[in-house]
Amino acid sequence: MTKYKLEYIWLDGYMPVPNLRGKTQIKEYSSFPSLEELPLWGFDGSSTMQAEGKSSDCVLKPVAVYPDAARTNGALVMCEVMMPDGVTPHASNKRATILDDSGAWFGFEQEYFFYKNGRPLGFPDSGYPAPQGPYYTGVGYSKVGDVARKIVEEHLDLCLAAGINHEGINAEVAKGQWEFQIFGKGSRRAADEMWMARYLMERLTEKYGIDIEYHCKPLGATDWNGSGMHANFSTTYMREVGGKEYFERLMSAFEVARADHIAVYGPDNHLRLTGKHETQSIHAFSYGVADRGASIRVPHSFVRNGYRGYLEDRRPNSQGDPYQIASQILKTISTVPLAGAAAKAA
Ligand code: ADP
Ligand code: MN
Ligand code: MN
Ligand code: MN
Repeated sequence: MTKYKLEYIWLDGYMPVPNLRGKTQIKEYSSFPSLEELPLWGFDGSSTMQAEGKSSDCVLKPVAVYPDAARTNGALVMCEVMMPDGVTPHASNKRATILDDSGAWFGFEQEYFFYKNGRPLGFPDSGYPAPQGPYYTGVGYSKVGDVARKIVEEHLDLCLAAGINHEGINAEVAKGQWEFQIFGKGSRRAADEMWMARYLMERLTEKYGIDIEYHCKPLGATDWNGSGMHANFSTTYMREVGGKEYFERLMSAFEVARADHIAVYGPDNHLRLTGKHETQSIHAFSYGVADRGASIRVPHSFVRNGYRGYLEDRRPNSQGDPYQIASQILKTISTVPLAGAAAKAA
């Protein structure tokens, strides 16, 4: 038997976006534990905005488990927060609101800033570095400094060792700003892995004295880019049947539900969705082929393949909760009748 360090990780009840929390328990297994072998656990919800002090117990229900390469015999256990009965989802548990759909695929592009001493990494103590231009996908000390690349490489290795479907990295437009992408099949998979990748990044950067700034416009109304988390999505029907008519009905549904989407696409998004810096205004809805100034970008390949494939919702911001984003996208898609059903109704 081996003693495993099980890190139970969950989202707290803070608004408008939750924080990651985690604590360790040691348990003996003959080999790396499967999800079914991981017990429910509890925590003090009165310390995480999830319960009153009088009745503070909340339940942690494991929903995914990943090897933790940073620890000997470590396991990362993603959990949903449940009520004391162990079966009713807690109000803060947005993962439980995601429709079941094994044919739904999501790809999230997480942009973020490294922050040191309250400033983006690589910014001078006062004032600004040279303006944006050379930093995006840049190489060399003057572009990316001496530590950022070390961190993103370490983070990539931790994600790959955990079995997270990490798809790539790039240095972003602002100094100190980076991106990574996570793709997953199934309505919850990419969101689970995004939260776990965020956890690994925040834990990793502790030892560098660096924080991750997820705010969508940390430098305010300046010429410095904000951060997004573009959500690429498709369903089996979109990939295999699709068609122009279905696509147009889908886009009408997204337009009708504009405010519901914006409500879960991350706080302060009006600061970022201004119509500048490759964004559409927060008050408008538009879509366009290869249009990075639209709310939804339609890839060239989508049109070429007879309006089949995936779409990119460019509005979610870097601080958004991928559970709530996936939940709302699937909810809106579910309101659109499929071609056969529409024909029958007509
Ligand atoms: P860009 O920066 O040009 O928008 P990226 O390469 O950063 O593009 O991100 C594209 C994302 O689209 C990736 O996360 C990828 O996994 C995702 N993606 C590709 N095909 C599909 C699909 N069929 N369904 C959902 N997402 C997809
Ligand atoms: Mn990208
Ligand atoms: Mn980007
Ligand atoms: Mn994108």
